[in-house]
Amino acid sequence: MLMDKVAIVTGAASGIGRAVAQAYAREGAKVIVSDISVGGGEETVKLIKDAGGDAFFIAADTSKADDNERLVKQTVEQYGALHIACNNAGIGGPSAPTGEYPVEGWDKVIAINLSGVFYGCRYQIPALLQAGGGVIVNMASILGQVGFANSSAYVAAKHGVVGLTKNIALEYAAGGIRANAVGPAFINTPLLKDMDSDTINWLVSKHPVGRLGEANEVAELVLWLSTDKASFVNGSYYAVDGGYLTQ
Ligand code: NAD
Repeated sequence: MLMDKVAIVTGAASGIGRAVAQAYAREGAKVIVSDISVGGGEETVKLIKDAGGDAFFIAADTSKADDNERLVKQTVEQYGALHIACNNAGIGGPSAPTGEYPVEGWDKVIAINLSGVFYGCRYQIPALLQAGGGVIVNMASILGQVGFANSSAYVAAKHGVVGLTKNIALEYAAGGIRANAVGPAFINTPLLKDMDSDTINWLVSKHPVGRLGEANEVAELVLWLSTDKASFVNGSYYAVDGGYLTQ
């Protein structure tokens, strides 16, 4: 489905980003695996190559505009063009009510989870236009649609990602770029590693399907949005949440 396409996946050293990179490669894309974690990124490349795919690791910190510019430049140098970008890198951040929220924590979450997505799109869009069009999939969250107590930075950043994605769709539809946002509920990845079992059980109870999601279940939605099968799908938010948002 993605033969001859070149894709960037940020935050691809772990969890959902790794699963997206693997899904893209499985479908024939050449995948730029990007992350701040060199070890994890190289492991993702190895997993893809061992499965017969094509991937290359480029270290980049999405919270730095210059890193995003370099990432796109090196992608085009490596594989000749850019057709697909999944802006997925993200962190959880501190847990505290807004009136007590650590300011440094706010700044860090916004820098990675919101500015990082903007910087990515900012430099990917000219390359996508150069290629005659392409696809952006930005990783939001169910918390891009509803609140979650003690997580104001994360909730604000993910709502921002949804808004940014709508604007890109509006501005670049005529240029052949489709941009959509994906909203996972709680997914079984290292992002949840610091939660105790009581918290995990409480989270499970909030999902009507009675379990958390798996990274590959998110990756399949991202993959579909990234293919021509989704050719009329633009500017929208797609939940992958086991029914979380129905309540
Ligand atoms: P994860 O921790 O397994 O993976 C996140 C990856 O992002 C890591 O490899 C990490 O090194 C990388 N990263 C962090 N900061 C970075 C930076 N500044 N520059 C580049 N890379 C950076 O987490 P995950 O669960 O796979 O999360 C991926 C995305 O999905 C995030 O945007 C997250 O907010 C979103 N999400 C996750 C869940 C969940 O429950 N796991 C739910 C909804 C949305």
